[in-house]
Amino acid sequence: MTIHFPFDNTYARLPDRFYARVEPEAVAAPRLVRLNRDLALHLGLDPDRLSSPDGVELLSGNRVPDAAEPIAMAYAGHQFGQFVPQLGDGRAILLGEVVDQNSIRRDIQLKGSGPTPFSRRGDGRAALGPVLREYLLSEAMAALGLPTTRALAAVLTGETVARETLLPGAVLTRVASSHIRVGTFQFFAARQDVEGLRLLADYVIARHYPQAAESDRPYRAFLDQVIAAQADLIARWLHIGFIHGVMNTDNMSIAGETIDYGPCAFMDAYDPATVFSSIDRQGRYAYGNQPRIGLWNLTRLAETLLPLLFLDEDKAVADASEALEAFSGKFEAAYHAGLRRKLGLLTEREEDLTLAGDLLNAMAENQADFTLTFRRLSDAAAGPAGDEAVRNLFINPLAYDAWAVRWRERLSLEPQDGASRQVAMRAVNPAFIPRNHRVEAMIQAAVERDDFAPFEELLAVLSNPYQDQPAFAHYSEPPEPHQRVYRTFCGT
Ligand code: AMP
Ligand code: MG
Repeated sequence: MTIHFPFDNTYARLPDRFYARVEPEAVAAPRLVRLNRDLALHLGLDPDRLSSPDGVELLSGNRVPDAAEPIAMAYAGHQFGQFVPQLGDGRAILLGEVVDQNSIRRDIQLKGSGPTPFSRRGDGRAALGPVLREYLLSEAMAALGLPTTRALAAVLTGETVARETLLPGAVLTRVASSHIRVGTFQFFAARQDVEGLRLLADYVIARHYPQAAESDRPYRAFLDQVIAAQADLIARWLHIGFIHGVMNTDNMSIAGETIDYGPCAFMDAYDPATVFSSIDRQGRYAYGNQPRIGLWNLTRLAETLLPLLFLDEDKAVADASEALEAFSGKFEAAYHAGLRRKLGLLTEREEDLTLAGDLLNAMAENQADFTLTFRRLSDAAAGPAGDEAVRNLFINPLAYDAWAVRWRERLSLEPQDGASRQVAMRAVNPAFIPRNHRVEAMIQAAVERDDFAPFEELLAVLSNPYQDQPAFAHYSEPPEPHQRVYRTFCGT
């Protein structure tokens, strides 16, 4: 039986220097951990066949589906500010592209499927823990409503991978609008390959930003649109307390999706300086630094586009600078609009930003849980009976009381009644996020005891993050002091 993937591989038709053709490496004993059946259907794939032994052969890289043209994509990137002219897919292989039910072209990629010409010193493999983390967090992100890559499947390889200890190996099947990164542009710019850059830009415009092709100046319009997409994405990360953890330019998607879930994490107590990643010692990628880093990365993208913007270098630089100047305004507009929604404000007043800022400051000073404060505020929006549950989250509850008086005054100027405000707020303030202590416990159960029940349960709860699920209320709670996770580690 062969399983049909309706592949149409446009990236593999680009010139050879864009990638390396490479087959996934066979693994000993593939075993399906989970298939995302809804996503399979959305991609036009048959979930029953994919979860059959033949399907699992494909998802583990043991066999390559018909019409796949496996490639490892070339890219470069700034890692923690240092430029590396060649990175590329060192442990991932793009099988091909399919067009989904919404007519969006999606990449299907195996991650952890063996070495490629870009592996450098790595083994091309992935351990089960990071695969489950990426599966869970990317699916949680999608359910929260943010642009993200998706997880189609996780399989165990039946082999071990050597990290600090021997760990079970696994392969993740990742789905993305594309895997083209800021670093993909840097790869060609570093080689002064202007023709390659132009081909890549034309490809990206056709695939992701077709409106830019209608513009008088398509490359500038393309840059503007990537800047807008990233400004919006990063604002949305902040609204849900997400910390990417490794915002290197090779981990920033041109399509504006959250990509490369490594040491990422959601914040518990609100503190803009929060860092989780064990390798981020300087706090470069701290929660509150993400907008600034976003602009830094986009500046690197703009630099690569200079030869396409204008032949005259001064003109090109002025043009790119003008595009980049729009980032802050776009980010702030998106961030502030989201904060207003989180506070239940439909109308705009100047004092709103001070009101929001004062709440955030009080939360930081009083170690209030980010997610729960806003979720419970949604109930307090219906009337002061809800205040008790919010104020308890503050070390000094009086800090909330003083703020709540001003908030209520402001709410009295709003057209909405309390009940509809509560509904609107609950739709933007999630009850459930992937809490680190839960994620770590889930990984431990799977890796140490081959127990996937916590993974399944957590995944199910996180698929409805805006709904109260009383039977699972414990998943909404912040960690007890002894459960706190301070460090997360890269997926390598
Ligand atoms: P990441 O930190 O996962 O974004 O990866 C940065 C770079 O290292 C990319 O080029 C990856 O392909 C490569 N890489 C990460 N882990 C491995 C591995 N186990 N084997 C080979 N290459 C890897
Ligand atoms: Mg990466």
